[in-house]
Amino acid sequence: MLCVKPYKCGQCDYATVERSHLKVHIRIHTGEKPFKCTYCEYSTAQNSTLKIHLKRHHDSASSVSLECTSCGQLFAEKSQLLHHKQMHNQDAKNGNTETFETARL
Ligand SMILES: [Zn+2]
Ligand SMILES: [Zn+2]
Ligand SMILES: [Zn+2]
Repeated sequence: MLCVKPYKCGQCDYATVERSHLKVHIRIHTGEKPFKCTYCEYSTAQNSTLKIHLKRHHDSASSVSLECTSCGQLFAEKSQLLHHKQMHNQDAKNGNTETFETARL
């Protein structure tokens, strides 16, 4: 009764003592990919693989300053930042900044 691995894969020689490990392994055969990248179409069966993907393909993208120059808010996507900046432009048009200034004085 040494090295008993009760959880065996039905499609290959893989066996493990941990049921959760088998569940992850079986995705290799089923093609199930529940871990999806938030930045692109990439999806994978394993969380660790997704982390590697994120680091390799999007690490620089996330550190690139998608930061609002007006208020310092950070964004994951450029479109979001542009949308947000429009809001600031609208504020300026409405004269909000002006009233704010006079209210302070
Ligand atoms: Zn297998
Ligand atoms: Zn990606
Ligand atoms: Zn802003």
